[in-house]
Amino acid sequence: MSVPESSSERAEASLLRQIPAVDELLGRATLRALAEHVGRRLLVDATRRVLQSLRGRIASGQLSRVSVELLEQEIVAATQATAALSLRPVINASGVILHTNLGRAPLARQAVEHLAETAAQYSNLEYDLERGERGKRDTHTDRLFAQLLGAERTLVVNNNAAAVFLALNTLAEGGEVIVSRGELIEIGDSFRIPDICVKSGAALREVGTTNRTRLADYEAAVTERTRVVMRVHPSNFRIVGFTECPQLEELVELARKHKLLLLEDLGSGCLVDFTPLGIRGEPPAAASVKAGVDVITFSGDKMLGGPQAGILTGKRTPLEKIRQNPLFRVLRVDKLTIAALEATLAAYLRGDLQAIPALRLMHITREEIAARATRLAERISTQPGFRVQLEDGESVIGGGSTPGQSLPTKLVAVAHARHSAEELGALLRRNSPPIIARLEHDRLLLDLRTVFEEQEDELAEAFARL
Ligand SMILES: *Cc1c(COP(=O)(O)O)cnc(C)c1O
Repeated sequence: MSVPESSSERAEASLLRQIPAVDELLGRATLRALAEHVGRRLLVDATRRVLQSLRGRIASGQLSRVSVELLEQEIVAATQATAALSLRPVINASGVILHTNLGRAPLARQAVEHLAETAAQYSNLEYDLERGERGKRDTHTDRLFAQLLGAERTLVVNNNAAAVFLALNTLAEGGEVIVSRGELIEIGDSFRIPDICVKSGAALREVGTTNRTRLADYEAAVTERTRVVMRVHPSNFRIVGFTECPQLEELVELARKHKLLLLEDLGSGCLVDFTPLGIRGEPPAAASVKAGVDVITFSGDKMLGGPQAGILTGKRTPLEKIRQNPLFRVLRVDKLTIAALEATLAAYLRGDLQAIPALRLMHITREEIAARATRLAERISTQPGFRVQLEDGESVIGGGSTPGQSLPTKLVAVAHARHSAEELGALLRRNSPPIIARLEHDRLLLDLRTVFEEQEDELAEAFARL
């Protein structure tokens, strides 16, 4: 004899019976059309998930009616959410030009085109067209760096962290590398100079103090185990006040005298002089080549404005040795990187710096930004509930370069009658494409320096939709 059912159990059973079968749902016109688009598999998975959640809601008494139309909408939304690509473009209104979390340097149009044309077809990546035999992938960028920097040889690996590691592993494994205590830095995401030394197999020999290291400190540390003297650009911080460190030329001489190699991690590595922009402390890589540094390393996607890559450049002999290291094969770059880097370097050679977005953004004046900010502020302030104000501010280059230095900009400060800055920021991030604003002291700030002009309409329209 069965236990008599309660009325709520009867209601639940009746609701469960109203749930349509999967096949019946999939037969509906909207879902059939969607399947054409995203494939049946994603749709079936999403449908099962939606139905399972529906049964859960029925069991917990949250539902009084099953609507097939609503179900269909839920399935469409769930399918689209899984089918959507996860990596997508965002509008960067933060004013940080090389924002590591937002993909650092946006690529030049020519770089994207060259990347697309070589990616979709076969290419002479490692093929010598002249001789009809196997070639080297380094040749494409080597010749350009030779012209731009006067370097004898240049290699490209996955990123600058890999470049430093590979250089140390090749040139100092089993021996010692001398580094000033003022340069034992951490770049973020756990790239620390002392840790990289350990992993490369080179013993770190620290010299000097945090703020002052003299040539004599280096000199006194040289033993028969010493292989490399390394200079590291402090990148994301600065020591000011009572400081001292040897000139690069003095280190070159010291290394030569003791038959050591001088390695310089430049961090950003500029191909042009940025002092006309008022940016100090980012020496051009060519100056290090000229000074006679044996191996110089820097990033492809910092102030160079190209794809993620690590550049190793300088003297032929140590670089050939690095090229022979089996780890070079482990850290090598693919054709996409080479294509994008080659086209970016070609823009430098043409002197067409405007083609490189990171450089273009650095050169926009506060007056130009102010004119655009005024237009945007007017558009946002016509929306009910918004209060908008323009104010002077600073954009930063970012990417761990030029700490304490900035570029003058004009900010659009937005407030809303009912939403906090925090909430506005979250709503903007949910826009499609997502908009990343600056949140400072409970205020939402938009810096148009990093917003491309063709994105301005989208930005204004996003506020209209909020
Ligand atoms: C940024 C930086 C690195 C790491 O470069 P990635 O290209 O991000 O790997 C290493 N050293 C210095 C001094 C840097 O500034």
